[in-house]
Amino acid sequence: MSPSRVLVLNSGSSSVKYQLLDMRDGSRPATGLVERIGERTSRLRHTGPAADPREQYGPIADHEAALKAVAEELTADGLGLDSPELAAIGHRVVHGGMSFTEPTVIDDAVLAEIERLIPLAPLHNPANLTGIRTARALRPDLPQVAVFDTAFHTTMPESAARYAIDPAIADRYRIRRYGFHGTSHAYVSRAAARLLGRTPQEVNVIVLHLGNGASASAVRGGRCVDTSMGLTPLEGLVMGTRSGDLDPAVIFHLARVGGMSMDEIDTLLNKRSGLFGLCGDNDMREIRRRIDEGDEAARLAFDVYVHRLKKYIGAYCAVLGRVDAVAFTAGVGENAAPVRAAAMAGLEGLGLAVDPELNAVRADEARLISPAGARVAVAVVPTDEELEIATQTYALVGTGSAPVGNNS
Ligand code: AMP
Repeated sequence: MSPSRVLVLNSGSSSVKYQLLDMRDGSRPATGLVERIGERTSRLRHTGPAADPREQYGPIADHEAALKAVAEELTADGLGLDSPELAAIGHRVVHGGMSFTEPTVIDDAVLAEIERLIPLAPLHNPANLTGIRTARALRPDLPQVAVFDTAFHTTMPESAARYAIDPAIADRYRIRRYGFHGTSHAYVSRAAARLLGRTPQEVNVIVLHLGNGASASAVRGGRCVDTSMGLTPLEGLVMGTRSGDLDPAVIFHLARVGGMSMDEIDTLLNKRSGLFGLCGDNDMREIRRRIDEGDEAARLAFDVYVHRLKKYIGAYCAVLGRVDAVAFTAGVGENAAPVRAAAMAGLEGLGLAVDPELNAVRADEARLISPAGARVAVAVVPTDEELEIATQTYALVGTGSAPVGNNS
């Protein structure tokens, strides 16, 4: 029988998340996470076929050591990297620039191009590259595929992707709106179409990916035509710790009047702003709890968050002209009914509404929360980036295809 499993690796700056998926039946024989790589208190949590997770504590020096530890856990479950069942490894790569519009089988040229894109994603692409290099060293003969967070957004027209600055300067420094969370936007927009019993080509969907990072996208007939994140994930919606949109002159002001350095401003806007900056908490559960107790700062954070969200929903209604569905996803979108209700409140004129009872239902499946007969379907669609990466990887590698050679 041809190999049917795909190992999905998501190598972050100090963590590695992994899932082994069996594409024959959709099962996940193993999942896990290595955290705090490079610290003394690293932790590996592995869940194999025997449901009880195994945990390892103690220093894991770098990504190479982390991946080796993961490989050992998989081997202990009879699922090692040398298993003939393994068809490919799919890597999440954050930034593909304009070079990668699709998932791509990794060879030396692809590695060099991901490396060339490091200035656009200085925190993420190096970690992704280390994950790829280590995995290739462990299984040089196995096809490895890069699935890019930016790829789904490369279909945006120039009118949406360009900033209104001198094109010569923009092009010299590769400044444009790239967008992120593309794997999730792709998966959720297609799942929303399926929920409506239509094909992706037949529907226009607004996807609201509301996690700790948050982004919106406008998807016309299966192709992204606008998204809220830009050159970096800082633009757009209010997020857990990122400010989202602000007047760029705030940065000049903080530098000239506040005397802050560029690094300090970068940290302020990316790590100490958004919900956290406004009220000291970035977890929507905690913010709702504080609102229930009458906390003013939490109320303001919630209101600013929802106001921005509404503006993007309205903007994307205008961008798309006709909207068939609005899909909420990720931690906040899937779980926070009050956010969904507040974001839709007063938008009846746009054909948008939620049914309070349906909105209150907690479930793991994709579901409609709009009233029966509503002009626009409003849906909650759990995202599954690992499944999307595995599906794209498997589709590219094909069953029983010849392994890709390692040219390194
Ligand atoms: P993600 O980045 O998709 O994992 O989302 C993480 C965020 O989802 C957390 O920071 C919380 O703000 C939010 N979240 C998770 N679970 C819930 C919940 N049950 N209710 C409200 N918000 C939630």
